[in-house]
Amino acid sequence: MEIEPAEEVKEPPRIHRLDEPVVNRIAAGEVIQRPVSAVKELVENSLDASSTSISVLVKDGGLKLIQVSDDGHGIRYEDLPILCERHTTSKLSKYEDLQSIKSMGFRGEALASMTYVGHVTVTTITRGQLHGYRVSYRDGVMENEPKACAAVKGTQIVIENLFYNMIARRKTLQNSADDYTKIVDLLSRFAIHHIDVSFSCRKHGAARADVHSVATPSRLNAIRSVYGLLVAQNLIKIEASDHDPSSSVFEMDGFISNSNYVAKKTTMVLFINDRLVECTALKRALEVVYVATLPKASKPFIYMSITLPPEHVDVNVHPTKREVSLLNQEVIVEKMQSVVESVLRNSNESRTFQEQTVEATPSVPSVTNNDLHLSPSPSGSKSQRVPVNKIVRTDSSDPAGRMHAYLYKNPQKYLGRDSSLTTVRSSVRQRRNLKETADLTSIQELINDIDSKCHSDLLDIVRQSTYVGMADDVFALLQHNTHLYLANVVNLRAGVKKASVETHSKIQLLGIFCSKELMYQQVLRRFAHFNAIQLSEPAPLQELIMLALKEEDLDLESNENDELKKKIAEMNTQLLKQKSEMLEEYFCIFIDSDGNLSRLPILLDQYTPDMDRVPEFVLCLGNDVEWEEEKNCFQSLAAALGNFYAMHPPMLPNPSGKGLEFYRKRKHGKHTQDKGNYSCHVGDGTAEKDEFEHELLSEAETAWAQREWSIQHVLFPSMRLFLKPPNSMASNGTFVRVASLEKLYKIFERC
Ligand code: ADP
Ligand code: MG
Repeated sequence: MEIEPAEEVKEPPRIHRLDEPVVNRIAAGEVIQRPVSAVKELVENSLDASSTSISVLVKDGGLKLIQVSDDGHGIRYEDLPILCERHTTSKLSKYEDLQSIKSMGFRGEALASMTYVGHVTVTTITRGQLHGYRVSYRDGVMENEPKACAAVKGTQIVIENLFYNMIARRKTLQNSADDYTKIVDLLSRFAIHHIDVSFSCRKHGAARADVHSVATPSRLNAIRSVYGLLVAQNLIKIEASDHDPSSSVFEMDGFISNSNYVAKKTTMVLFINDRLVECTALKRALEVVYVATLPKASKPFIYMSITLPPEHVDVNVHPTKREVSLLNQEVIVEKMQSVVESVLRNSNESRTFQEQTVEATPSVPSVTNNDLHLSPSPSGSKSQRVPVNKIVRTDSSDPAGRMHAYLYKNPQKYLGRDSSLTTVRSSVRQRRNLKETADLTSIQELINDIDSKCHSDLLDIVRQSTYVGMADDVFALLQHNTHLYLANVVNLRAGVKKASVETHSKIQLLGIFCSKELMYQQVLRRFAHFNAIQLSEPAPLQELIMLALKEEDLDLESNENDELKKKIAEMNTQLLKQKSEMLEEYFCIFIDSDGNLSRLPILLDQYTPDMDRVPEFVLCLGNDVEWEEEKNCFQSLAAALGNFYAMHPPMLPNPSGKGLEFYRKRKHGKHTQDKGNYSCHVGDGTAEKDEFEHELLSEAETAWAQREWSIQHVLFPSMRLFLKPPNSMASNGTFVRVASLEKLYKIFERC
């Protein structure tokens, strides 16, 4: 029998102390894992130094060079020798300080770590000094005495050849995708939280910065400038707080994407006590809410800033401080989840147009949607001075004259306080299976019609163009490549609507579709799946129709037709009442059994039609819709809605042009009509100051500004996404190429 040779008995290995440089390098590798972690540490140092401007320059994904310059308080000359030693910090003295730490750094490790894995040079100047100092570091120590040098306010830290002494790390980083995108992403996040600081991030050799934010008081502005319009316009503000020490104490505010936002990846920008952190549990929890609540189930964009008592947050749990640990984390995650869920549910189910004060429990946010702000009604007596044929509005207290009075004030009342999640979800499910429900062949045919008549070159222009501005009341200027286009945003199709045509300039002749066509297409696409605009009080159809009829023949100054008008109004009301079931089911136009209109469809999120046009629309429903045949009926209804929702110029003339004359106070019939001189008239040798109807003027200014906003922020982005421009638009003047930029430049050069 063979005996296996006894295994060689292994002696326990000897334990020995690592050399200090090895220890430091290992530790450094943990703190500075990649170039982006170095940038994070440096930017946090700049923020801790109360900087108002921070710029980052990166070469070769950060491996060759990272340079962070700030305008903060600088570093004292006396501190330079120990600046890059491990555990040297100005932010913490004793362990207990960690409990209330406000600065981002506290370990005094970042700069030291960088000197073990790269070459660090610091240039800094403190207040009141005539010159600054520059000094380089390696392995925690100064390489030379600080040299006096010229310097601008603040500190500049340069790291060269990162990981020069960590071959494996450098190789993996070189092979993996560049860290530059991560650095841009990081700076973008900082930029939308620290909105009082301007940030820039640029690749070495590039003329343009990839992040460029300027200090602004508005978070939304910051998001717009960093993440772009498409993100910013699809955000809902959220706010919540809880002050119950037995469960959780926090304040939260932020922005979350709405149902129009589409993205493949979640963007979650989370700050806890002003620290940029990650919290996978929260992120997942919120993603779940989006999947359950929104039809498109897109990945969300979320910016959230949570403030907790400092003693509830342990900031010292991760080597790069990327994560923090929270007391009652589950409770907080759950609260955030329910806040986001209720905000989304409200924005998704019913669009309303004022502060939606969602039930008053402490943890539920108030949603403010500034974009949908409606101007308050002016007093009725003032409006009387305006020729009534110019504006339908008569008296703010007369609901028939002012549609704004109908806008719903409290969405909850209508939705029912217990609008349960299950009903919401089933409606969501329904909407997801759009194909299943909208299988009426007539609608499909109308949609196919749109597709088959789509002009591919125009589609390309619409998709790729950028909005330059409004050229006049009707035309917007767009740029596509090097060409400028005028696009008619209203569509003044001949004979469709005479109102306010006369106030426009020659280019109106180029007029055709845009918003009207888009709205028409939206009606067909969203057919039977609309969200609702709720009117605050049901509006009696009969009165609306009377109003519209009276407006039609105002100039005739006749009352004798009143009886006839009443008859027409009655008949039309009857007709619409009969059709109410279909109108509600397919078009979300809700007419109750008493003949009151109380709900309208949302064709584009964030957009309400001009409510002063409701009477005209209701009349049009009665007169112009072909009720007999299904396809014609749907088409004419969609056209009527399209016309109503189109972005017509407001009824009040544009005060920024010739229209200003309209608002001048008439004095004893001695009204001056001089065109082009609105500031001061000289008559009988005495200067007479102009007086304007200020209230009306400011109402008009608001209306025009709001319209321009909607055109830029709602219409054009939606056009880019949804509009299939029909062939006719290419020839009928909706889109007109007005100039090529090359030619314009040549002209300017000659000047
Ligand atoms: P920590 O931030 O944890 O204190 P660091 O190694 O990042 O440690 O920085 C060490 C110290 O250097 C800081 O405490 C701070 O006093 C100083 N410092 C670093 N960067 C800057 C800067 N950009 N401006 C002013 N002081 C700075
Ligand atoms: Mg630091």
